[in-house]
Amino acid sequence: MNTPEFTVTATAQPLHPDRRAEILADPGFGNYTTDHVAKVEWDGDYSTGGTWHDARVEPYAPLTLDPATAVLHYGQEVFEGLKAYRHADGSVWLFRPERNAERLNRSARRLALPQLPDGMFVEAVKALVRQDAHWIPEGEGTSLYLRPFMIATEKFLGVRPTREALFEIIASPAGNYFGTPEPVDIWLSETYSRAGEGGTGNAKCGGNYAASLLPQLEGEAQGCKQVIFTDPHRGHAIEELGGMNVFFVYRDNTLVTPELTGTILEGVTRDSVIELARERGMTVQERRITLDEWREGIAEDRISEIFACGTAAVISPMGRLRSAHEEIPAAAETNGEVTNWLRDQLTGIQTGRVEDRFGWLE
Ligand code: PMP
Repeated sequence: MNTPEFTVTATAQPLHPDRRAEILADPGFGNYTTDHVAKVEWDGDYSTGGTWHDARVEPYAPLTLDPATAVLHYGQEVFEGLKAYRHADGSVWLFRPERNAERLNRSARRLALPQLPDGMFVEAVKALVRQDAHWIPEGEGTSLYLRPFMIATEKFLGVRPTREALFEIIASPAGNYFGTPEPVDIWLSETYSRAGEGGTGNAKCGGNYAASLLPQLEGEAQGCKQVIFTDPHRGHAIEELGGMNVFFVYRDNTLVTPELTGTILEGVTRDSVIELARERGMTVQERRITLDEWREGIAEDRISEIFACGTAAVISPMGRLRSAHEEIPAAAETNGEVTNWLRDQLTGIQTGRVEDRFGWLE
């Protein structure tokens, strides 16, 4: 199917420019939304196919859903997160949006939601960003965060794949996620898992995040800002944080990150960090890394830096690892040379300060 044109209906009541300027001066993360949304609707059957229709950009408004709508009961929902950046010359760029498009379709398949046709995801993002371009903040580390999502909109209480779906994108101006990247202490959740083999760990679906809230609270009660999940059935192999992938820098010029086992999310930032590190001449290993290796690597000073990465927080140094039973000290260099170089390159490419030699901007 060809990508449809998005018809545009501009809002008659945009937010007052003075108020918008106030918001853009200090947006924080996730606090405000822009004046418009992009939407496409689907009718059909998961197995035999269906039709996407009514592609449009329209004024931002609440959704009206029947209380019997499937998504409210069975969580048949997937989402994405990516950013638009304004460069010094005023031009606006997306970072590797096809990666998010591909991941949304992989997530949708796992949740028995329809596939978006080629090009529709990126076209919808671009149509919304064009309409709300004046909502992109200016300044170091700022961006317009885009949140595409797909939900089951059929009014039906039986448990089967929906026959109606909505794909929608909202946008939210973003400042620096963690402010200045101070090392963040990490809580090791021993009570709860985020994902299991054959589950939905590598799908970006709402349920995964609902399940991470209680361990997150547990961590916060212990003074930790983030939770790390391990796989107790694979010798406490490190998996990921609630919303970020994890990397270990070794003193022998090796970068190690947990392999994609189906239980962790395949981060776009993760993939970009791997490419940057290879370009820099590091040996990159995607493999199983256990809690024991972490503990010994720190004790013997073989691991020099540990960081987490994701679209929202970019690259953030990790501090201590704490659990109910132990504490592993932070790596010797908590904002080390490799962490800083990777952040500088990544944000440099995104914001136009550094040449985009990988062709990541679109
Ligand atoms: N893991 C999880 C669980 C996430 O939610 C995210 C954020 N999407 C990531 C990792 C990082 O992915 P990305 O680099 O694509 O933002």
